[in-house]
Amino acid sequence: MEKRIISFLNKKLFLCPFCEELILDESVLCAPCRAQLLREFDPHPQIQSMKDKFFIYPLFSWNAKSKIILRELIYRLKGGENQRLQAWLAQLFYIKYELYISQRQKVFIPAPAKQKNKKNQRDHASEWAFQLVKAKGEGVFYDPLQRQQEGQKSKTREERQKAKLSLGSSQIRGRSKLQKNLEMIFCDDVVTTGATAFAAYKALGQPRHFAVWCLAYREVR
Ligand SMILES: [Zn+2]
Repeated sequence: MEKRIISFLNKKLFLCPFCEELILDESVLCAPCRAQLLREFDPHPQIQSMKDKFFIYPLFSWNAKSKIILRELIYRLKGGENQRLQAWLAQLFYIKYELYISQRQKVFIPAPAKQKNKKNQRDHASEWAFQLVKAKGEGVFYDPLQRQQEGQKSKTREERQKAKLSLGSSQIRGRSKLQKNLEMIFCDDVVTTGATAFAAYKALGQPRHFAVWCLAYREVR
């Protein structure tokens, strides 16, 4: 009996990832935290152009007011934790952009992790890409990008900030498989200058159909 109660509680009880209050209604956040986050959610599209090459689709806009709760959100998603929350965010994303998303077949490509995960788990960008695929039940998850590590010390700060990405050596041969009609969706958490996204765009051979789907867009002034 006791065992059954514990297993029931484990299934039914969740702690709010933001404030660690008990959640009784199987939501991903407690009601106050969810309300605080949704206050910063604009259901209207906030599509940004990146050098007229491609578009950025942010779920949230990072500003002086929203940054408090968004910082908490990004922090809680680090390391690929909180899959339920990511799944909920993916659904929110599709609500916001449903009418703006092309019918094209999509390949979801996560921003490469800064550090290799020891347990081989998905990191936050991979989890975001994975949940975007899962939410719609269509599209393909593909993780071909890696960061270039060598020679970083000798470079200036500015150069280091320009993230250099490349296709993993095992992926280069597969590049031709990235068919022309597919849409490449680069998935990341916060996009600021768009340098990482632009590096991904170049590493993938400047695909004709390319977009960035991110959790937040922070405008640089
Ligand atoms: Zn909470």
